[in-house]
Amino acid sequence: MRYLSTRGASPLISFADMLLAGLAPDGGLYLPESWPQFSATEIAAFKGKPYPDVAEAVMGRLIGDSFSPAELHADIAAAYSSFTDPRIAPLRQIGPDLYLMELFHGPTLAFKDVAMQILGRLFARALKRQGGRATVLAATSGDTGSAAIAALGGLENIEVFVLHPKGRVSEVQRRQMTTAPYANVHNIAVEGTFDDAQAIVKALFAETDFARAVSLTAVNSINFARIAAQAVYYFTAAAELGPFEGKGGPVFVVPTGNFGDVFAGEAAMRMGLPVDKLWVATNSNDIMARALNEGVYAAGKAQPTLSPSMDIQVASNFERALFEASGRDANWTREQMATFGAEGSLVLSPPILAALRTRYAAARADDTETLAAIARVERETGQLIDPHTGVAVAAAFNLKLRKKVPVVVLSTAHPAKFPAAVNQATGRIPEVPPRLKAALEGDENCSVMAAEKGLVRGLIEAILPRS
Ligand SMILES: *Cc1c(COP(=O)(O)O)cnc(C)c1O
Repeated sequence: MRYLSTRGASPLISFADMLLAGLAPDGGLYLPESWPQFSATEIAAFKGKPYPDVAEAVMGRLIGDSFSPAELHADIAAAYSSFTDPRIAPLRQIGPDLYLMELFHGPTLAFKDVAMQILGRLFARALKRQGGRATVLAATSGDTGSAAIAALGGLENIEVFVLHPKGRVSEVQRRQMTTAPYANVHNIAVEGTFDDAQAIVKALFAETDFARAVSLTAVNSINFARIAAQAVYYFTAAAELGPFEGKGGPVFVVPTGNFGDVFAGEAAMRMGLPVDKLWVATNSNDIMARALNEGVYAAGKAQPTLSPSMDIQVASNFERALFEASGRDANWTREQMATFGAEGSLVLSPPILAALRTRYAAARADDTETLAAIARVERETGQLIDPHTGVAVAAAFNLKLRKKVPVVVLSTAHPAKFPAAVNQATGRIPEVPPRLKAALEGDENCSVMAAEKGLVRGLIEAILPRS
């Protein structure tokens, strides 16, 4: 299996090289040269299988011969041994035909662990084989940072720099990052929004001399290894709820920021999984809802909400969906992204919009609707949900389905990560799991700086050991 860039001007590379690179040198995002296919029989056989077995089957085909089956087996087993629920992505019914898929049983209590725990191990393995060092640079809206730190903290030959928007992540999220006891982890609070932090990261990747000199790499959702690991739980959920016999599969409702998690659903569909629809649920930072409903992909100004991990105006992974919707036209994709870069908006042509709408639909929920959804779930089931899950549940409550199919809401964070919002909605404070308590009590370590890429570059250069 080889990987190509959505912008068509990068050489095809292996999964391992793609994993180490993150972003393609032409600025595009990597995708498999062709999608491996799973038959209905293979998918049906996933029912009842342990989650790590399905992960090996799905990821194995995307990885090709970059890692041996034994290596993949070992890394997946180790990755998921740190989860507190052995089912990894259990379904919990909260209404007739309505399910939560709980993705927050990993070390940092958000869904990012599901992929990052595997990515970290494969990354270390590939780096060791290749030799040399890597500098991981990530912008986080809250949960990617702590998941990356949990996965990469303490590893040899890897230096990790995590930028978060100062004051725009929850206190729990910040402490999970800044109390990490690893010498190779460097937190930077940027005075700006998540989009400002992400723009700095992108700009430093574009400084190719610098990027090459420090072996810069990305482990956020632009790294396809994350998408590969996240596609797995779409398979396990559909297999568990199926077979669907002609009904087309479940609806998934996905709380969306950077469009990585929901694109993992498209990846699963393109590998043969029957899915009725992927619902993109956004908070009031609704660029993706506007793009899919009105046909204009235009960045607004990011506003803080109760679901900070989705306070994103530029949904990087949308480039992958556009590339696929165009029939994999790399020249067209490159032009579209150039237009978006220059003008901050993009008009989607009717055929592209129609292609996107065959799999995606979108809804937004503001903070008031999110709080109401959290309260309703608590009232009807006694279950507490976090505000990101709340955004998606609000969308699910409003769905008018043409067919009676199961609706699966991706529950992306543990409620204890966002106690203030949960308390505001329900009057209850979620119980803090033991693994979170430690993070809340340690000393914090973080640099604060203005949102200027030169300052971030200077810090990286000051910290890296001279070679
Ligand atoms: C990152 C995150 C999201 C958004 O996922 P994307 O892949 O960026 O769309 C949703 N909920 C939580 C809790 C997150 O951490």
